[in-house]
This record gives sequence, structure tokens and C-alpha cells, in this order.
Amino acid sequence: MKGYAMLKIGESGWIEKDRPECGPLDAICKPLAVAICTSDVHTLWEGAIGERHNMILGHECCAEVVEVGSLVKDFKPGDRVLVPAITPDWNSLEAQAGYSMHSGGMLAGWKFSNFKDGVFSEFFHVNDADGNLALLPSNIDPVDACMLSDMVPTGFHGVELADVQFGDTVLVIGIGPVGLMSVAGANMRGASRIIAVGTRPVCVEAARGYGAVDFISYKDGSIEDQVLAMTDGKGVDKVIVAGGGCETFESAVKALKPGGKIGNVNYLGSGTYVNIPRAEWGVGMGHKQINGGLMPGGRLRMEKLGALVSAGKLDVHPLVSHVFDGWEHLEEALFLMRDKPKDLIKPVVKIED
Ligand code: NAD
Ligand code: ZN
Repeated sequence: MKGYAMLKIGESGWIEKDRPECGPLDAICKPLAVAICTSDVHTLWEGAIGERHNMILGHECCAEVVEVGSLVKDFKPGDRVLVPAITPDWNSLEAQAGYSMHSGGMLAGWKFSNFKDGVFSEFFHVNDADGNLALLPSNIDPVDACMLSDMVPTGFHGVELADVQFGDTVLVIGIGPVGLMSVAGANMRGASRIIAVGTRPVCVEAARGYGAVDFISYKDGSIEDQVLAMTDGKGVDKVIVAGGGCETFESAVKALKPGGKIGNVNYLGSGTYVNIPRAEWGVGMGHKQINGGLMPGGRLRMEKLGALVSAGKLDVHPLVSHVFDGWEHLEEALFLMRDKPKDLIKPVVKIED
């Protein structure tokens, strides 16, 4: 089979590989559509997960099942499925402890294009198929369905980590596709006011559509000064971090009310320490919680988030800014994600209808 792989850090291309083998609990699937992620860029060009040789990239797609193992009960060849980017081992102790995304070790629930070949391939392997796949609702277009692999669950996990409650004022730092889904999730959870940090017009427009009312630019001075000025010096109840670097935590803590919570889903790609400002953290006693997490994967979450889209309660289509037709455009879509033109949110490549 053909797959689009990271040959080494900074180099990629199409390679031939054997089709993966299907264990008793597993499924083999073929993509109907795939989406490119910022993480593919971090992996390939920034060496975010270290060196990898001939590893097929990609972890966002929806697919058709072509083979299932002898112990798989709920899926069969021909089923069209949602595929989460994170595919935990559901019988692991970490999953039993409530941290499925860390099954097998910290962050090890992320397998596609990390510990094994990803989904930019004619066929790919899914571990624990009954625990990880979900049927694709018939009224969701495969292009839109790709947003359910990672963008929706990650953005929504930021909302969970920040514990957004009815009436909260919420600051969302970074309004790429993940931050946009945090805006949408915070809005659904009943935030009264959502302040978004970001300036690209396509993202600002999408954020407005998802419920953000105020916008600030991190280029116009410190985030905290701007937030405090907009909130009569009080700050916000919750902060969701979906962009920026280690320095954003300083702003987040300073912009937060006592008792507030920060939910981080951003990948911190450089630096050694995250600095927490001592005084604004209440000299250690401010009850300002900082939570950061990889999104939980798995079937139940896919089914529930798929149901939101299927029921018309969440429209993911505004995230899809570029659609390509056929594997031959995959590289172009990947390079577009690297180069980030101003009008880009997410590129998707359709493989089959
Ligand atoms: P993205 O790069 O499209 O969006 C990040 C946005 O943050 C960009 O628009 C950028 O302009 C903005 N930004 C940069 N510096 C900023 C600053 N100082 N303050 C505010 N905004 C700033 O990426 P994305 O696809 O939306 O993903 C967001 C992050 O989430 C990435 O780091 C990605 O690796 C991570 N991620 C995490 C998980 C998870 O499970 N936790 C899953 C997927 C992606
Ligand atoms: Zn992703």
C-alpha cells in the first residue's frame, strides 16, 4: 500500500509499505477523507516527537472499515466510521484510573503518526476497534467528519479542563481551529462573555460565529492588561489556552480571578519552564488552578460529539477553509498547513465520497 510518510525530520514523501495486520480486537480501515493538523507540521518539520523514519503521517480522518478482528463485536467491513486521533487501550490501568489518553505511559494514547503509522495511507490500523471507533452519522459529510477526530474533542477538552460554568466570563487564548472549538464549547456550556485572543480575519469571523464577543490581539500589548481593562480590573472566571508558548501562562494567571481555572490544550514546543507569577498566583494561595491535558479519545466521546454535529447543534463546517480532491493533493495540503496563508483554518483532502 502507499502512504505519505515522514522520511526523517524535515523530509517527507510517498512510500510503499505492507498493509498492517489486524489483531483479534483491531480493525483495518481506509480513509474517506483526511485532515492536516498543526501537529503534523510540528512532527515533521520541528521534530516535536523526535526522529522518525518512514513513519506514515496523519491522525485526523473518517474512514470505511475493511477488516475486523475475530473478537470485534460492533463493527464490520463496509461500516463508515469516525476515528479519534487518540486511540487508548481501554483495558489499561491508566484508562481505569480515568486517564485513557495516557494508557501505556504519558501521552501514549496518541498512537497514529507517533508510535505507529498514521492515516495518510490507503489502509491503516485501529487498536481496540470496539472501544475507539464510532459509526459515522449518515447526515455528516466525510469532510466535516474529519473535524471530529481532533479539533472538536481537543477544543472541547479545553472547556472541560477550564470547567466552564453558566454565566462565566471566558478568555480563549489562540483561535486556530482548536481555539475556535473551545469558543464553541464554552458557548454551549453557557459562558456569558467570551473574549478571544487572535487577529486573523478568517479566525475572528469564525470565532464570532461560534460565540466570541470581544477580541484582543497579543500584538497590541500584554493580554492581561487588555483583559483587565475590559473587565473593570476584575479579570475572567476561566481561561482556555489553545495557542502561544510558555509565556501565555503568565498572562493567563494574571488575567484570572481568584478561584479561576485555566484549561490548557496547547502543545508547548519549546522552553524548559512555565513561569507562574508569584504575586498574581495569590502568593501561592489564590486558588487559581492550572490544568493541562491531551484530549481523551475513544468511542463514547466520538459518538457524543458526532451526535452534536448530526443534530445540528454544532456546525464544524466553518473550520474547513480548503478542500482538495484525491491523494495526489495531500502534499499540497500539508505544505499549505506549514505555510499558513492568511485565509487558512483547516485543509481537508477528500479521498472517496
Ligand atoms: P494553530 O497553530 O492553528 O492555532 C494556534 C493559534 O494561536 C494561531 O492562530 C496563532 O496565531 C495563535 N497564537 C500564537 N501565539 C499566540 C499568543 N502568544 N497568544 C495568543 N495566540 C497566539 O493550531 P491549532 O490546530 O488550533 O492547535 C492549537 C494547539 O493545540 C497546538 O499547539 C496543537 O499542537 C495543540 N493540540 C493539542 C491537542 C491536545 O490533545 N491537547 C490536540 C491537537 C492539537
Ligand atoms: Zn490533530
